[in-house]
Amino acid sequence: MCAALFTAATLSISVAAKDTSVQWPVLGGTDLEQRFSRLDQVNVDTVGKLGLAWSFEFDSNRGQEATPIVIGGVMYVSTSWSRVYALDAATGRQLWRFDAQVAGRIGFDACCDVVSRGVAVADGRVFLAALDGRLIALDAKSGKTLWSVVTTDPTQPYTITGAPRVMGDKVIIGNAGAEYGVRGYVTAYATATGKQSWRFYTVPASPTAAPDGAASDRILKKVALPTWAGHWYEHGGGGAVWDAIVYDPELHRVYIGVGNGTPWNHQVRSEGKGDNLFLASIVALDADTGAYQWHYQENPGESWDFDATQPMILATLKISGRDRKVLMQASKNGFFYVIDRTHGQLISAKNFVPMNWSSGIDMATGRPIENPDSRYADKPFVMYPSALGGHSWHPMAFDPQTQLVYLPTYQFVMVYGNDPEFSFRPGTWNTAISYVLQEPSDDPVALKNAMSSFQGRLVAWDPVAQKEVWSVAHPTLQNGGVLATAGHLVFEGTGAGRFEARCASSGELLWSFQAQDGIMAGPATYELDGVQYIAVLSGYGGGFALGAAAGQPTPRPNGRVLVFRLGGTATLPEFSMTTAAVHAPTERFSDDQVSDGRLLYTQNCYRCHGAGAQSAGVLPDLRRSGALADHAAWSAIVNDGALESQGMVGFKRWLTPVQIEDIRAYIALKAKIAADHDESVPQAATPANK
Ligand code: CA
Repeated sequence: MCAALFTAATLSISVAAKDTSVQWPVLGGTDLEQRFSRLDQVNVDTVGKLGLAWSFEFDSNRGQEATPIVIGGVMYVSTSWSRVYALDAATGRQLWRFDAQVAGRIGFDACCDVVSRGVAVADGRVFLAALDGRLIALDAKSGKTLWSVVTTDPTQPYTITGAPRVMGDKVIIGNAGAEYGVRGYVTAYATATGKQSWRFYTVPASPTAAPDGAASDRILKKVALPTWAGHWYEHGGGGAVWDAIVYDPELHRVYIGVGNGTPWNHQVRSEGKGDNLFLASIVALDADTGAYQWHYQENPGESWDFDATQPMILATLKISGRDRKVLMQASKNGFFYVIDRTHGQLISAKNFVPMNWSSGIDMATGRPIENPDSRYADKPFVMYPSALGGHSWHPMAFDPQTQLVYLPTYQFVMVYGNDPEFSFRPGTWNTAISYVLQEPSDDPVALKNAMSSFQGRLVAWDPVAQKEVWSVAHPTLQNGGVLATAGHLVFEGTGAGRFEARCASSGELLWSFQAQDGIMAGPATYELDGVQYIAVLSGYGGGFALGAAAGQPTPRPNGRVLVFRLGGTATLPEFSMTTAAVHAPTERFSDDQVSDGRLLYTQNCYRCHGAGAQSAGVLPDLRRSGALADHAAWSAIVNDGALESQGMVGFKRWLTPVQIEDIRAYIALKAKIAADHDESVPQAATPANK
């Protein structure tokens, strides 16, 4: 069925358009970031013969989110903890390795794992944005540092996980940290020297502050400042540009996706007043000067962690008989936006996941029609999609032959409510959302049922008709990034560790590979000496993997790059990892201790160690910690920071010794429940955080 469609609909187009040599020179395949390749040696008829050509193991088992870049037969790939590898793209032989040597404590400042989404390569230079805020240019041949600039204030909890993009003679980078309290911006530097060209702040500073001397000064004062109220500037206001930055070579512009505010809660951040520009917006800037061109705000007065940072695809679509230069984004808020990128006008928007916070977009104003309850002013609101997003950073792809966008989506419900206890805590998370409402059930069965209601889907979306054409559900919590090819194939990894190829027009599963670990990253494809290769990184982690209640941890091998070709016969090394049991202390703790500890854990610990103290195995499952039954060891780690070099900073800055002991009491209860329920199941030891 798939092959017939392939022949009729696409083969002639793909052959006519085929290049003699196609590699993967930028993150999204081309500057338009469609993540589509004209290569068709691997196609619906041949994909059954696809096998592993080679694999290369990294030295970190944290999350891997990068798409490799292939230029001149060399693969350049960044990994967690800000390392870069140059590999022979045909064989996987290592040519050089660079380690930015980020201090372990910086890991604490990263909301969503110590990941990197990729490097940029141009003119013999490899550009890495390190987790600690540096932008580093490396010699592409040797891996030696050419220049390095600090792009963020090291006294503030900024991090960088996004990939830089090159636009002509400039390289641009954003940053992250809005959950902690920072002021977001992007900066462009000269690729040759690292000299700063321009900077654009996404939110205004204090009305009484001197101008920044930045490209954003005029527009912030004139347009953005009047949309804010209260004392947002004391904590930066947020607006981090932590992922999508897309250079438009056709219009010589760059589009940036701006994230949520600090804190999330609009009532607290801005007294519930104003649109708070440019939060949750797509902003177009002149590539040479950073001058403002246009913006589209997806969530005026954003209050739910609805970043507008998701990947953006540029294309030309025929809409109502007319060619339109469009920008497409499937936003966290659940709407698929098609925007005319010449002037920023919204063409259409439709929800691609079920939603209850909005009934649609008012096309006269471009604003969402909100369910008033969704602002949780008087009472909590159970909302979908929610902070995880209907879609997050995972790359989507656009196939110009099928005219479909292939989109990894999520369905995840969250309870939002005001936190009457909120006060700003420097250096850690500040959402001003009630944590009491986030406490998961202690009943393992109820928790498992709740988690299984969350779903990942791969959706084929018609962006002109704004409707789903086909979709497949993943019986796992998370799906990965997507690649589309002229072979009429859609490639996607899954959190359960499968790498799959599907028919582009029907979604039929045509091929899959078991990778030993979850796959989140976007795949790439390239041709060398007449052979087409498909590459993807394995390595589970990231914000969702850290925070979700996983039931029991899965042993995590080091991340790898996996490279496939027709007739490939390589295999992965045997994987086994020692397992360890739950350490349930025999001490007795009071009900009050456990109850206080439950809330404190939810406030301070779950984002890394898993909701309900049930880690997925990326970071340690504390029910299995050797320190759990030892008050002194527990205090040395949690209070004093004995494991700071691994990212586990001491909490005495925020918590009292009594509170730290309460958290131990809560995890002791969880360990006891696990010991009672999971006795027959071998328990995984989480390897050291490396
Ligand atoms: Ca966010």
